[in-house]
This record gives sequence, structure tokens and C-alpha cells, in this order.
Amino acid sequence: CGIVGYVGPQDARDVVLEGLRRLEYRGYDSAGIAVVADGELTSAKKAGKLANLEKVLAEQPLPEATVGIGHTRWATHGGPTDRNAHPHLSEDGAVAVVHNGIIENFASLRSELEAAGVEFGSETDTEVAAHLLAAAYARTPAGEGRLAESMRLVCSRLEGAFTLVATAAAEPDTLVAARRSSPLVVGVGDGEYFLGSDVAAFIGHTRDALELGQDQVVELHRTRGVTVTDFAGAAVEPTAYSVDWDA
Ligand code: GLU
Repeated sequence: CGIVGYVGPQDARDVVLEGLRRLEYRGYDSAGIAVVADGELTSAKKAGKLANLEKVLAEQPLPEATVGIGHTRWATHGGPTDRNAHPHLSEDGAVAVVHNGIIENFASLRSELEAAGVEFGSETDTEVAAHLLAAAYARTPAGEGRLAESMRLVCSRLEGAFTLVATAAAEPDTLVAARRSSPLVVGVGDGEYFLGSDVAAFIGHTRDALELGQDQVVELHRTRGVTVTDFAGAAVEPTAYSVDWDA
């Protein structure tokens, strides 16, 4: 229901949690966050109010990180439990995703993945995206644009409405997102980038935003900057605007 992403010099844990607080008004039944530090993805997620997640984080803090993603969930597939809360990590821990919307063809994708030996940890439609992304990532050569290319491969297989945001354990400087019939806004700071399901997620940090069109994938990289393509990989120029909001 609410999505936040951050990559940059600030502590991603703080920026993502603050973004989730600012999205609380949307309503949700569970919340979670994942960060990349020292080549590893770690996550915390909890059913109920953000305070429940904050309690978990106070007891078992995630490491300080340059990139992180967060989610407040409004369950559509699978009950509002800790396990079903986002982010969802792949089995190998290589990638993590958060998702807004519904993946209509998740049942057939889940059967296909289970037939290939993947073990699911939740009842969500979202989890297929995590496993598909890990498989695509494993097939895609390392180097610039690897996570974005993997995301495009995943999107070509998904039906329905979705905003997906992903991070990879091996990429502390990269955040990737995709959107189809579901909102996603990029916030542009000084050497840092934000993602939100709406601008409220990052309005405390920047007013410079980029609007993404339908069926687009964005890669935000701390030094390479912003790269937007359509699902086929063709470059797209995003629309820049200034957020007019009395926060
Ligand atoms: N369909 C997903 C789920 O139930 C995402 C729900 C949402 O948009 O929060 O986990």
C-alpha cells in the first residue's frame, strides 16, 4: 500500500522508516524494511502498526546502510501476518522486493517456480516477483544495469497492477523500481534518491521529483544517476517537476 526507497549517503534505515511514518495516513495492516550492508540483505517485518516494527528494530537493529526499501501493506493475498509482510527476499538472499498492487497471474507463476524447486515463505502474490527476480538476476551478467535488466525480465512476465521496488545484496549503490497501473514517484536529492508511492514519503528531503510513466523501469544509482526505460529496455526521458506542497 505504501512504498519507500532510498539510496545515498544518509542512513537508509532512518530515511526509510521516516518515509513509512509519513505514509501511515494511507492505512495498512503490516510493515517492513530491508537494507543492504556488507554485501548482505537483512530485513525486519511485523504485522500491525509501525510501532510494532519499531519495537522489533529497537531490539534487533538492522545495520547502518546506504540503500533500503520499506513497505506498509494492505493485504490482498494472504492474511496480515509477519510472514506475509513485505519486503520479500529471494531464497539465496540476493534480492528483496516490496510491492503495491496485485499480480493477477501469481498462481501459475507460483506453480512454475515450485515445480522448479523454489520454496515459498508466504501466501502473497508478491513473493513470485522476488523469486523471478532472483532467477533473472542470476542469469544476467554482472555489471551496470544488471538489476534493472532483471526487473524488466520479471515485468514482462507479470499481469496485473504493480509497483515494485528492489534492492540487491551485491549492489549497495543501486535501487530499482518498476510500475504498471500503480503509482511511483522518484525524489531527486544531492547525490541521493528517494522512491515513494507518493511524494509524502520524501517531502521532508527534496521537492525535486520525477514522474514515471506506465510500464517503465527506473534505476537509481549513487554515481550513475537516473536511468529510465520501458519494459523492453528502450530509454525514456522522465518528466521532472517540483513538488508544490506545504508540508
Ligand atoms: N498484493 C500484495 C499483498 O497482498 C500487496 C498489497 C499492497 O498493495 O499492500 O501482499
